[in-house]
Order: sequence, then C-alpha cells, then structure tokens
Amino acid sequence: MSMIKKGTKLYSIIKSKCPHCQEGSFFEGSMFKGTPKQKCDVCQEPFSKEPGFYQGSYYVVYALGVAVFVTIWCSIELFIGDIGFRGDLISVIVGLILTAPFTYPLSKTIWANMFFHYNGHLKDENNELESGEGRVS
Ligand SMILES: [Zn+2]
Repeated sequence: MSMIKKGTKLYSIIKSKCPHCQEGSFFEGSMFKGTPKQKCDVCQEPFSKEPGFYQGSYYVVYALGVAVFVTIWCSIELFIGDIGFRGDLISVIVGLILTAPFTYPLSKTIWANMFFHYNGHLKDENNELESGEGRVS
C-alpha cells in the first residue's frame, strides 16, 4: 500500500483523497455514489472551481471507457480467440457495466487532480519551522 507516495496525484486518485492536502476524503459518503464534497473537511479548500465543474469529468470517464474497451477486446483476441462480433460486443458492454462503479468516481478524482495541486508540503514546511523554533528554546 505504501508503494504510492503521498504528495503524488496518483495517491489522491487511488485513495479518493482531497487533491489539496490528501488528508480529507474526496467523496460524500461512499465513493461509489460518486458525489464529491463541496470542500475538504480537513483543509477547507473547495473541490470545485465553478458550477458544473464536474461535467468535464465526462471526458475522463469516456477515456477510461475506451481504455476498458481496448483492454477487454485485446484480452479476448489474445487469450480466447475469435468469439464473433456479437461475443465481442456483449463482453465489452458487460465489462463497461461492471467497471462503471469504479470509472465514474475515478473520473471525478482524476478531473479534480487536473486542476488542483497538492499543497500539503507547504503545511509540512511550516510545521518544521515551528518545531525548529521549539528545539532552539
Ligand atoms: Zn484537503
């Protein structure tokens, strides 16, 4: 689990954390509902730039859908062989439906991470300064 370092965008995306501080959770309740909070509970930074901000995440969910499609189609060609057009089509549709609970919320965290950047290191630097002063006295 510690393979993904805090401070990277991947950490925020995989763990569904606030893109600003990576402490607070990104979603309201379960990630599978896919509803981002208005702002972070920990750092109070907003998760949206304007009304309808997350409509842009449909570009991301489209890209993820294409990735799922290509993965399924290539897997069928490589490991199963020719199952006909109808077989391919049904496999891809079932695959897209099964991965939708993951790609839908993922698209929102990816979209947010395209516009918001990690600022937790600023807080860490301030903490170091404070603890440094503590050591002097
Ligand atoms: Zn935060």
